[in-house]
Amino acid sequence: MPQKAAKKKAAKKEALKTKPSETAAPSEISNRLAYFQGRKDQMVQTIRQLVETESPSDSKEAVDRLGALLAGRFEGLGGHAKFHRVEDFGDHLQVDFTGARGGKPVLLLGHLDTVYPMGTLTTMPCRVSDGRLWGPGSFDMKSGIALMLHAIEALRTWHEDKLPRPVTVLLVSDEEVGSDTSRLITENLAKKSAAVLVLEPSHGLKGAVKTARKGIGEYILKVKGKAAHSGLDFEKGESAILELARQIIAISKLIDLKRGLTLNVGTVQGGTRVNVIPAEASAVIDVRVARKQDAAGIDRKLRSLKPFNRKCKLEVTGGMNRPPMERTPGVVALYQKAAEIAKRLGWKLQEAAVGGGSDGNFTAGLGIPTLDGLGGVGEGAHATHESILISELPRRAALLAELIASI
Ligand SMILES: [Zn+2]
Repeated sequence: MPQKAAKKKAAKKEALKTKPSETAAPSEISNRLAYFQGRKDQMVQTIRQLVETESPSDSKEAVDRLGALLAGRFEGLGGHAKFHRVEDFGDHLQVDFTGARGGKPVLLLGHLDTVYPMGTLTTMPCRVSDGRLWGPGSFDMKSGIALMLHAIEALRTWHEDKLPRPVTVLLVSDEEVGSDTSRLITENLAKKSAAVLVLEPSHGLKGAVKTARKGIGEYILKVKGKAAHSGLDFEKGESAILELARQIIAISKLIDLKRGLTLNVGTVQGGTRVNVIPAEASAVIDVRVARKQDAAGIDRKLRSLKPFNRKCKLEVTGGMNRPPMERTPGVVALYQKAAEIAKRLGWKLQEAAVGGGSDGNFTAGLGIPTLDGLGGVGEGAHATHESILISELPRRAALLAELIASI
């Protein structure tokens, strides 16, 4: 090769590697997509390894095994791993990466746990077929964790073994069971971060990101009536089941679909025998709110329910768990940045508002710009057909890497 050409080539290579680019130029971005296309098989291998390390929320031992495996992988990429110890659930894993430039880190958020009991792999083995990787937790959200690993690895390759900016990874162990032990850690890290990118599954087979999620609450309504023999002393009884039935109808009238406010009486219990007027009955109610301001209102309405039968007593317990993730200007700005990167990668990134919650609800609730659903593209979360589309992995990884660099 003539010296000049060789020099030019070396300069070009150097530029590709070291440009402290906030965002890659259009010509570079196709190189970066090609980089991930060349690593698709490695990404599939990573996801397979994570899926085959089962991690149900209720098995501390299993979740800790996955945590240790991932701490090793992230440390291999230059991160500093530490565990937040938890007694009854797995330990939460935090990994900090320094960056070539300073400033606040970007928080990459996810969870280690799955909803599948230990041993699910025997009936639902991890397999690759029809262009998909199938298995428990593949979609929610082990493919998302794999995207974090591969995006960080790529950024280091492109920036001389450093990340262009500080990054914090937080993988919690109890997201599928309400995040009680991790919420404070998530919130504290979010407050110190420039933005939060949540690697939960994307929405639909087009892979939309999530810019709004409903807030979630759970309430228990207990009714106390009075027992009596249904034949001998019918008039002396006060039926808790009848009272509960009337309350359920009253509760259903609080639903306001236009406002995104829903209440679902998911389970009911009551009574002892068919020939006894039931003295006790209860219902568990799932509440979803699209707007923060509706949470307090619905809480008040549920707590002030009055018995139709004055001789029955009501008791309401529970409350709101996750605030809604609202589509704030900060969320919109992040989405627009992501959509612009996706456009340069040759695809139209859509957004979606969904009813389900994630830990992104907590961070968005604090006003920290949050973009959710950046993880794998697939379907069947929590179901036997849980799977991800392998062909989507490269551009999801390229999008994540570019987003980290450009926020
Ligand atoms: Zn999830």
